[in-house]
Amino acid sequence: MAEIGAVGHRVLHGGIEFTESCVVDDACEAAIKKCFPLGPLHNPANLMGIKACQAAMPGVPQVAVFDTSFGMSMTPEAYIYAIPYEYYENDSIRRYGFHGTSHRFVSARACEIMGKKGTRVINCHLGNGSSVSASIDGKCVDTSMGLTPLEGLPMGTRSGNLDPAILQFIMNKYGYTADEMLNILNKKSGVLGISGVGSDFRDLEKAAKEGNERAQLALDKFAYEVRKYIGSYAAAMGGVDIITFTAGVGENGPDMRESICEGLGFLGVHVDHEKNQVRGKETDISAADSTVKVYVIPTNEELMIARDTLALVTK
Ligand code: AMP
Repeated sequence: MAEIGAVGHRVLHGGIEFTESCVVDDACEAAIKKCFPLGPLHNPANLMGIKACQAAMPGVPQVAVFDTSFGMSMTPEAYIYAIPYEYYENDSIRRYGFHGTSHRFVSARACEIMGKKGTRVINCHLGNGSSVSASIDGKCVDTSMGLTPLEGLPMGTRSGNLDPAILQFIMNKYGYTADEMLNILNKKSGVLGISGVGSDFRDLEKAAKEGNERAQLALDKFAYEVRKYIGSYAAAMGGVDIITFTAGVGENGPDMRESICEGLGFLGVHVDHEKNQVRGKETDISAADSTVKVYVIPTNEELMIARDTLALVTK
């Protein structure tokens, strides 16, 4: 224990209070608590971890690294929901985005690779939970998750975007409470819900190869929605210089990467089939005629948290 000089903690929700990581003090603890309603499953546990480390290592600085802080550079038109404005003013209901530490790590690396000012990055963090972000010089312009991680892409078990009126329809017909409905959208939907096979993309690819049409539909739907986000984020930034793939599926799923990039030729995106046969290793997978770079960049949230922690405690 005596060898430990500082501890970095991943904290899910920092609300609007935190645009960057911070050393935990009373005000920071109070802000983490204030965000309990926004991250009811994670924030209480995150604070418990901080308390446990404080007790085990008295006097050792604790640093909170928020999954939402990357999204805090979004402009109002990107983060506001088109619902009555008082819900934003009174209840902080807005888009925050998640996987921020991963998006920050990968987009910073992408900027390093490009080595020029004004680098426009679209990062596809595709795992069990999935999100896409658009950033310029590492600053988030938009990201697909919202107030909670349920918004955006269809995921392993989460629905992602859908017509909100579906909730009323299903709840009225089957007599579900709001919690039961949300459980269906969080745990029983996404590629699991469409396929009925599972949430693991390896199982889906195997089933699809064996002729399971719903498994193929789930994979096609996922690729289609990622492709649409890439197109819309290119529009949001007036173009894109580099597209990056990260996390479980992004790093290890060559077929999914190729399927997503198919049809993006109009943007100047072309993937080299041979170079793309890579797993878990930083690799340029763009074809020679691709005007947009396409890369696999393994994410490293722990390293990002360690770097933030070191920077803050040695300041
Ligand atoms: P993560 O949430 O980032 O840990 O990613 C987990 C997901 O990565 C799982 O759903 C797996 O399906 C997917 N994954 C891991 N390895 C592979 C692989 N070799 N091919 C396709 N998907 C993979």
